[in-house]
Amino acid sequence: MTRDFVGYGAEPPHAQWPGEARVAVNFVINFEEGSELSYPAGDAVSETGLIESASTDAGNRRDLAAESMFEYGSRVGWWRLHRIFTGFNLPVTLFACARALEANPPAAAAIAATDWDICGHGYRWIKHYELDESAERDQIARAVALIRQTTGKPTEGWYCRYAPSENTRNLVALHGGFLYDSDAYNDELPYWVRVSDTPHLVCDAIFDSGVQIGLKRALTTKLDLVDATEGLKEGVLNDVGSITEATRPGWEPAACPSRQRETLAPEEPAQGTRVSGPRLREQICRRSR
Ligand SMILES: [Zn+2]
Repeated sequence: MTRDFVGYGAEPPHAQWPGEARVAVNFVINFEEGSELSYPAGDAVSETGLIESASTDAGNRRDLAAESMFEYGSRVGWWRLHRIFTGFNLPVTLFACARALEANPPAAAAIAATDWDICGHGYRWIKHYELDESAERDQIARAVALIRQTTGKPTEGWYCRYAPSENTRNLVALHGGFLYDSDAYNDELPYWVRVSDTPHLVCDAIFDSGVQIGLKRALTTKLDLVDATEGLKEGVLNDVGSITEATRPGWEPAACPSRQRETLAPEEPAQGTRVSGPRLREQICRRSR
């Protein structure tokens, strides 16, 4: 892959969001518990990333605490996020690992009942850059099939858990059925590239923009969701991401007494034109193409 240091350059296109909105937000929930490394899953190592306390070893034994922390995400954190977003009637893009959906049939059924869209986050957490081309092709195909089997939904985007390989974008395009991939961090507006002479849409995953929730703080109430949208920028596609395994209540209403937590009507943020993730991305890109 060749590198592009220029992008849109000095004059990025006007986003022209639907309804002349000034700010566009794509809410993202990572759904991935059970896709992490663990002995019960057949790995000879236990997950050490994204756990609540610093790991005291290299994951070279079964870590029941780590396993339990991930289970919190699928048992509790996920449902809290589901209640918040369905309460607001806000569409969500799920960064979903196929094996996590398989591990939690009630959650998969709840996802099936929404109009939320799915960006494939791997069959499981696996380093795609370590796979040869045929193994990676197989991983992508298995993920798409299992996401369809568990939710009835298509996999509209692709975003690797770790860095992609040099083949990932090509394999995603060749697989077909995807609208975009998010294996990029180099822009704040979606953009087109050519893959095998065919236009392919790239929508950056932006997790250092200050609106990532879950890693930096817990999303525990409706107002946290509104707080999390502070700092959103005009004219770009803002991703607000949340990771279900990191949603344990971290700060309570008492910690910020000036905030009127319960004054928000559930429908408030949903006013205006509502377009879900991939559709929104497509609309933007049609204009910027
Ligand atoms: Zn993830």
